[in-house]
This record gives sequence, structure tokens and C-alpha cells, in this order.
Amino acid sequence: MPSQSTFMASPNLRIILIDDNPGDRLLALRELTQEFPNLQAEQITDQAAFEGALATQRFDVVITDYQLHWGDGLQVLRRVKRRFPDCPVIMFTNSSNGELAAQAMKDGLDDYVTKSPRQYIRLAGAVRSALAFTRANRRVERLQSRLQTLLNRLHVGVFRASMGGRLIECNIAFLQLLGFTSSGQIQQLPFEQLYCPPPDGAPEGYWENEILLQRPDGSALWVLLSATLSAGEDGGIIDGLIEDISARKQNSEQLERRVRERTVQLEAANQELEAFTYSVSHDLREPLRNMQGLAQALLEDFPAQLSPTAHQYAQLIVRSSQQMDALIQDLLTYSRLGRADTHPQSVNLNTVISAVLTQLQTKLQEVGAEVRVDSPLPEVRGHFNTLVQILLNLLTNAIKFVAPGVAPRVRIRANAHDWEGSRWVRLWVEDNGIGISPQNHQRIFRVFERLHGSETYPGTGIGLAIVRKGIEQHGGRAGVEADLGQGSRFWIDLPAVSDG
Ligand code: ADP
Repeated sequence: MPSQSTFMASPNLRIILIDDNPGDRLLALRELTQEFPNLQAEQITDQAAFEGALATQRFDVVITDYQLHWGDGLQVLRRVKRRFPDCPVIMFTNSSNGELAAQAMKDGLDDYVTKSPRQYIRLAGAVRSALAFTRANRRVERLQSRLQTLLNRLHVGVFRASMGGRLIECNIAFLQLLGFTSSGQIQQLPFEQLYCPPPDGAPEGYWENEILLQRPDGSALWVLLSATLSAGEDGGIIDGLIEDISARKQNSEQLERRVRERTVQLEAANQELEAFTYSVSHDLREPLRNMQGLAQALLEDFPAQLSPTAHQYAQLIVRSSQQMDALIQDLLTYSRLGRADTHPQSVNLNTVISAVLTQLQTKLQEVGAEVRVDSPLPEVRGHFNTLVQILLNLLTNAIKFVAPGVAPRVRIRANAHDWEGSRWVRLWVEDNGIGISPQNHQRIFRVFERLHGSETYPGTGIGLAIVRKGIEQHGGRAGVEADLGQGSRFWIDLPAVSDG
């Protein structure tokens, strides 16, 4: 078949002219040469020449008479069209027979020109429009085949169907998604699944639907159907896309399940927290308020009987219990607020340490402890009362876990470092105590984990758990460097306050 590229590249128009009459051939060629100066015409007068031309495909257009001594124009037309369906064939004949013309058109004839003096001039125009038509046809065919290739490569199913459920066309992905291998297998589309009607009375519409498709092999698949309905045969035409959304569905189902589980866990944790805070506020704060009230009463009612030291002690009791009450109050508020509600502020660590030392003053004196602070300590972003609580726990431990007869020596210092793209302050609390063996470094931060009996070292086992929780709520970390008999160096990482 003469290809499109031959067509475009060659300026020559190659025709075969099949006519027994030399005069008619001459007239036809005269007309054609005027219109197409580069015409290459092969004149064919017998069957052998026609077969030869067919075999070598050396023509772009066929012009044939109807009456031939070796056959007729219809036979020529059919032979040409069978081999080269898009090669234009024009019949150029004496007989203006309507029936013959109709039959020829049915067989694919491109034009029909009668041999009358007035009609000769139409021949060139007929060739030109037949060529233009063929060219346009080929372009459409190429586009269609490119489109089909593209559609077949897509992982999205594309289909067109009538509202009555008849599949008009579709791509491979559509068949695969539905679980078929050929469109012939689809008798009737599963419309109850694929089609959810647009709102009543809407003659045209667009809709999207997530559908769980049941496939012939028993499997099911989540798809997203996007479809438009337009007027047409059989109640309307649906153009639709279907897309496999099973992965997305699975992910969102998993996510929903996890969210549900987490919500249940969170609710349980919140209830526990509520019970805890309730008991803390009742069981702890009430006796604390009594203590504070009684110490205050001592100061007010027996000023003369109290020695200066007793006076000082009573004042200390009042101050310490006030501080403790405030701390408990803050801890309750803090634990109720949770992480997101805590607004960190710029906190001066020296102020935190002073508050802790004031609170521990009596205890420090009792055990003869010496606390050295490498001032000035930097500022951090945090929650003041939580930091007081954390440092209080670390310092209490530092002076508590010492060997008998050893005076506690504590050093508090800080250094800055970068971690995960942010600046952090690492605050150290170092002691000369009994130390901790490395295998217990993680364990001791868990609730109620204690390494000693309460006769040797009294305590509840909650202190370090509060440290870790409080630090994590600051986005930081806590840890320890220690060995048995070597003292311990506890550290906490807190967000640094940027200078800018
Ligand atoms: P508590 O102090 O009430 O026992 P913590 O949670 O504060 O509870 O500490 C848990 C355990 O970690 C302690 O029982 C102790 O065995 C160990 N520990 C904590 N701090 C120190 C320290 N500075 N030196 C040695 N051991 C410590």
C-alpha cells in the first residue's frame, strides 16, 4: 500500500488509469496533467498489466472505466480495496447507471465521474478531494491507534457503555480490573455495582463512587468509578473511568483501626490519670495544707515560746509546704494538660536550681551535702515547675544514693550541643554516690523500678519516671552515665533558647 510518507515526501502523483479507449485516456490525462504537473500515469489496458501494478504497488490513485474487455470496473475496485483499503479509486465511465454507482459506492468507491465533455473537468477535482479524504482518514486512524495504545497502557480502566448495560468499548485495564480477559466475556456489565444513578430527573450527569467490585473468580476489589452520562441510544451513554483504590482503602482502613485502638488506649490512660490526679489532690494536698496551716499557727500563736531556730524551722515548713503544694498543683495541671497544651517559656536554669536548693535546704544540711553549681547556667525553653520537679528528683537521688558515711558531693553543670538539627542544652547532675551498673541504665527510668530495698534506700521508684516523662514532654531526652562504685552522671537535654 502506498504509505503516507511516500505521499508526503514525493511531489509526484502516481496514478494508474484503466481504460480500453485510447481517446478517453488521452482526455483524462490532459485534464489531470493540467492540475497535477508532476503526474506519473501508467495506462493499463489488460489484466496482466493490472496484476503487475497491484503486485508492485506503484500508484497513489486508481482511475478505472466500468466496461473493460477483460473485466469490469467493479472487479477492479474490489481488488484494489481488498489489498489497499485506503487507496482512492475513482470510476470514470460512459454509463451513468444509478444502480451501478450505488453498488460501487457501497464497495468503497471514492468518486464517480461520467465521460461527458462537461464532466471531464471534474476528474481532477475528484482526484484531489479523494486524496485529501484519504490523507485525513489516515491521520484519524493513526490518532485512534495511538489513543488505543495509550489507553491499553493505562492502569486506569476506561469504558463506554449504554445505560442498558451494553459495553460499547473499553481498554485492557478495564477488563483486568473487572477480572475478565476479553470483552466477549462480558455479557452484561455489573451495573448495580458500577452505576449509581445521578440525581433524579438529571438528563446528564457526572458522579464518582467508591465500589467494592465482586469479580468472577470470587475476589473483590475496591475501585473508584468516575462517570459521565450523556444523551444517546438505549437510555444514554456512560463514559467512565475505574481506578484500583484497594491499596489506599487498605491503608485508610488500617489507619482508622489504629486510630480507634489508640483512642481506646488514650481514654483508658486518661481515666487512669484522672483517678491518679484525684487521689493525689485529696490524699496529698489535704495533709500538706494541714501541715502548712499548723506551722503557720505555731508561728502566730506561740511566738514567745519558740526559740529562734524553732521559729526558723516553722517558717521553713511553711515555705517548703507552700512550694510543695504549688508543685503538686502544677504537676496536676501539667499532667491534665498533656503535651500539646504546655506552652514552653524561656526558663533560667539558675533560678530552677535555686528553687530546688531552697526546697532541699534542710535535707542537704542533714546529710552534710555539698552542691557545686557551675554558674551561670544557660536559659532553656521549658516549663518552670516541671523543671523544678525534675531537678528536685535528680538532686534528691544524688544525695540519697551514697555509701554509708560518705558526704554527698554533687556538681551541676551544662553544655550545649546539636541534635537532629536543633540546639540543645545538656544539664548534668553528677554525684559521688554508689553508681549504677550499665545494664540498669534504662530500667531505672521506668515506673516503680528500684535497685535497692526500701530499708537501705527509701523511695517510691517514681522519681526517674517523672524525669523521663517531663523531659519527653519538652521534646528532649534523659539518660545516665555511671558504673558501680564510680558515682553517677545523670543528664537531661532541653531545647536551647536561641540567641537571635
Ligand atoms: P526512688 O528514688 O524513689 O527509688 P527513682 O525512680 O528516683 O526512685 O530511682 C529509681 C532507682 O534508680 C533507685 O531506686 C536507685 O536504685 C537508682 N538510682 C536513681 N538515682 C541514683 C543515683 N544518683 N545513684 C545511684 N542509683 C540511683
